[in-house]
Amino acid sequence: MGSIDLHSHSQASDGALTPTELVRAAAEHGVRTLALTDHDTLAGIIEAETEATRHAMSLVAGVEISVTWQRRTLHVVGLGVALDATALNAGLDTVQSIRRERAQRIAAKLEKLGVTKALERAQKQAGSGQITRTHFAQLLLESGACKTMQQCFKRYLKAGKPAHVKVDWAALDDAISWIHQAHGVAVLAHPQAYGMSAAWRERMYSAFAAAGGDAVEVCCGNSTRQHIDSSAASTLAHGLMGSVGSDFHSHEQRWLALGRLAPLPNNITPVWQHPNLNAIETATTPSAL
Ligand code: AMP
Ligand code: MN
Ligand code: MN
Ligand code: MN
Repeated sequence: MGSIDLHSHSQASDGALTPTELVRAAAEHGVRTLALTDHDTLAGIIEAETEATRHAMSLVAGVEISVTWQRRTLHVVGLGVALDATALNAGLDTVQSIRRERAQRIAAKLEKLGVTKALERAQKQAGSGQITRTHFAQLLLESGACKTMQQCFKRYLKAGKPAHVKVDWAALDDAISWIHQAHGVAVLAHPQAYGMSAAWRERMYSAFAAAGGDAVEVCCGNSTRQHIDSSAASTLAHGLMGSVGSDFHSHEQRWLALGRLAPLPNNITPVWQHPNLNAIETATTPSAL
């Protein structure tokens, strides 16, 4: 039986593979149902769908929307969204322009730190896809300023660091309503990855549920047992469904494999049982670690 992976990236944002290469790699890893969820764009979906049909794979049209909530950045994944939905496309256009303006400001800061032609080079890295901090991190790696991606974020790109630029992304309610108007399902991505205290996480779950959110990524590519247990408890407490997603970006992230995810705890209702996702093959289950 194949596995299911509902969070992944391609070159349409900060993934290393083209949508075609990503789907092929997922097929090779035994993934039967894959969601492509690039940052703030649907641009890779059609290509991924075309390749998925060649592998008899079910491709879920997805997007990972950047949200600002209580001055913090959250990521809300939309699954099973219609590609021609007006509000979603208009919303993504707005977020993309915020991304472009932010890129100019990050580049200016990096130039001051000695990285030459930062915008031009980041744009080249991103190609026709969204410019993300991952692309700027690659420049820092190339310049020899840092040795690992982790270091680039920790020293330069994270909040409070010299090349960080604060922006207001989409509002939480708006992102969820764009997803719903596109007949999709709204999933709170990687709840353990925001560096929040347990109290803040609790506020986040409450706000997400109050705004009409549907599900939480309970099993992520790098989740520990404690992460899964804690997310599962909050997911149940707030009456939400559960999702599974590796957040795969590149084969270089060796700790993350496409579709290699812990199974959802038995007491969590899988998001693929949501009526809006009934096109997803329900026979697929996550493969055990
Ligand atoms: P952005 O949405 O442009 O701010 O970029 C966020 C992306 O940067 C995330 O989706 C990750 O792919 C990547 N990222 C964030 N923090 C780190 C980190 N500490 N190490 C490696 N990649 C990171
Ligand atoms: Mn990313
Ligand atoms: Mn994310
Ligand atoms: Mn992601």
